[in-house]
Amino acid sequence: MKNLLKKSFCVYFLLFGCFVLIIIKNRFSKGKNTVYSESRPLMGTIATITVYGIEEKKAKEVIDSAFKAMEKIEKLCSRFLPESDVSRINKSSGILPVPVSDETFEIVEKSIFYSKLTDGAFDITIAPIVELWQIGKKSQRIPSDSEIADTLNLVSYKEVLLNPQRKTIFLKKKGMKIDLGGVAKGYANDQAISTLKKFGVKQALIDFGGQISVLGKPHNKKNWRIGIQHPRELNRTIAAIEIKSGSVATSGDYMRYFTGADGIRYHHIFDPKTGKPAKSGCSSVTVVAPDGITADILSTSIFVLGPNKGLALVEKLPNVECLIVKEEGGIVTSSKLKFFSF
Ligand code: AMP
Ligand code: MG
Repeated sequence: MKNLLKKSFCVYFLLFGCFVLIIIKNRFSKGKNTVYSESRPLMGTIATITVYGIEEKKAKEVIDSAFKAMEKIEKLCSRFLPESDVSRINKSSGILPVPVSDETFEIVEKSIFYSKLTDGAFDITIAPIVELWQIGKKSQRIPSDSEIADTLNLVSYKEVLLNPQRKTIFLKKKGMKIDLGGVAKGYANDQAISTLKKFGVKQALIDFGGQISVLGKPHNKKNWRIGIQHPRELNRTIAAIEIKSGSVATSGDYMRYFTGADGIRYHHIFDPKTGKPAKSGCSSVTVVAPDGITADILSTSIFVLGPNKGLALVEKLPNVECLIVKEEGGIVTSSKLKFFSF
């Protein structure tokens, strides 16, 4: 009897031990494997934030904060919201300098830095040309050469005056305008990532209209694998690249375009030197960089520069890699990019 009691006590203890272990294990693995994702419309596209390893309530909270950080950038940078920093800068061109938020100042300052680096291939003062062509709108059209020439008088990053002490921006010529469409999404990605970091998130992925930023390592894998859209067969992936961190942005002639009666594809990435859609031999340019704003600016810039000048520039920049799908077909990449083509 005594033996029997001893035995059942042991069994009970063992079972209890197992039970405790299972609870601990479940709690641990639940936290570790949890994936929570949310999408919202933003800047005319869709943004999706995915966080890993956080229970649902907290995940919802941090994702909401990250979206708010992104929405703030939209409110500051939109050309269509009358009270945005960009609208106020544009309305005051040729009149007076406009005080702006730290975020807008940083975006414009970085944009001008890259205008100088790319010899004007990237130029946020392209806005009057964007408005002239109206690509992607019902009113899209091919303007005359004289209209283009007149409008180009208003395009020059050299006429943007920044005052870092006062945090003001002044467009020197009346009628000048800026358009942050080639840079704001990348900056918004960065704002979202830094918000997630502030909340202690260790692992996350942001997909903002095709620009991807990652935080930490992916679950059970060494690298994040990012697919690159085929620029002519839209349900196909043409290649994939692997990254450990940072951001991947793609600029392409397939995203917003129309085909003219002349058979030419008129797309939304303009060469500031000609005032026409860039024809430099690229169908798409994907850039990997340590942060979103750099990847976004450079993908647009390299699209304008073309494969030769574009790759030469990338080779000079630390921690930046690039993959170009050429207009004639075929892929060229910077020397250190790890990629798989399909
Ligand atoms: P992305 O898709 O990042 O290449 O950005 C394209 C958008 O950037 C266009 O829709 C325009 O709003 C703007 N953009 C077009 N051409 C240029 C350029 N050469 N420099 C800066 N922004 C541009
Ligand atoms: Mg861009």
